[in-house]
Amino acid sequence: MSTELLTPPRKVRNTLQFVPELVYFEPDALDYPKGRRIHEWAESLGLPIRITGSHNRITGLPGESELEKYKIAKRTLVVGIRKTLKFDTSKPSAEYAIPIATGCMGHCHYCYLQTTLGAKPYIRIYVNTEDILNAARGYIEERAPEITRFEAACTSDPVGIEHISGSLRELIEFMAEQPLGRLRFVTKFHHVDSLLDAKHNGHTRFRFSVNADYVIWHFEPSTSTFAERIEAAGKVARAGYPLGFIIAPIIWFDGWEDGYADLLAKLGASVPKETPDLTFELIQHRFTKTAKNVIQQRYPKTKLEMDEAKRKYKWGRWGQGKYVYPDEQATLLRETITERIFEQFPEARIEYFT
Ligand code: SF4
Repeated sequence: MSTELLTPPRKVRNTLQFVPELVYFEPDALDYPKGRRIHEWAESLGLPIRITGSHNRITGLPGESELEKYKIAKRTLVVGIRKTLKFDTSKPSAEYAIPIATGCMGHCHYCYLQTTLGAKPYIRIYVNTEDILNAARGYIEERAPEITRFEAACTSDPVGIEHISGSLRELIEFMAEQPLGRLRFVTKFHHVDSLLDAKHNGHTRFRFSVNADYVIWHFEPSTSTFAERIEAAGKVARAGYPLGFIIAPIIWFDGWEDGYADLLAKLGASVPKETPDLTFELIQHRFTKTAKNVIQQRYPKTKLEMDEAKRKYKWGRWGQGKYVYPDEQATLLRETITERIFEQFPEARIEYFT
């Protein structure tokens, strides 16, 4: 497909870095350099600062209705200490989730954080990075001589808050020194400049979440635009990071074939074909009954299709199952998108479709 045929960007926008409206600190967080630095930053911007006994119990957030409280929570930062240093598993993308932050200011309608974070959608940054890195070291030693991969974006979008936390840079530089440790994360934000000169040693895979224009436009408010993400991907590739794209959630909408062809053509036009070791991860849209209820309350006008009758029920390991696309549709999505990927990037590797 020639680039002239591509749909033009919907709207030019300059997505600004996140600035919270309210910041909470656990008192002990101020014993750490990172806690003090964030406190100074919040003070310098004149942000309202409160003290909380625990980052897990924030009460009294402003807002008249549940919806208003939710929106304000998404703009509230909580700075605390990560006490649980037992990492969750993170299949299929990595062995473990590394917990440097929780929560996100994005408003993606389909985001699973809506249900996993329940009534605590505020953004938490953990200041005891040394403890977290020591725990990671333990996991790496346990699995030696196998490589251990850590996913840093399981419970947040860490790039979106990197200008506040600086934690990703610390993780990247730590992992650069680990012969058997690898880091990966995914983002919908383009604020990557502070990471470009980090010493990564090729041990961190930087992935961007991308999607058809229709999906980004309708379901991903408060994130960077496609054009911004793709420009950032170019910078990351030039900085020598292993690069990847996650296409998620893949959604069956009217015109999806053209929409995803257009996406891949745009990627093909922007990302150098010779990008070494380029990976793709493909995740079809899924929802649970609980997620559907939460999404309908928080985004009552959403166009996100969540009709159980049109889906296949897939049993979950811990009880509640998910609604995915029926096999025939899922296969068509997988095959079509895979073909478009290989047309543009014959050397790319598709890590999984789920
Ligand atoms: S950017 Fe990622 S983590 Fe943030 S709301 Fe969207 S899907 Fe969720």
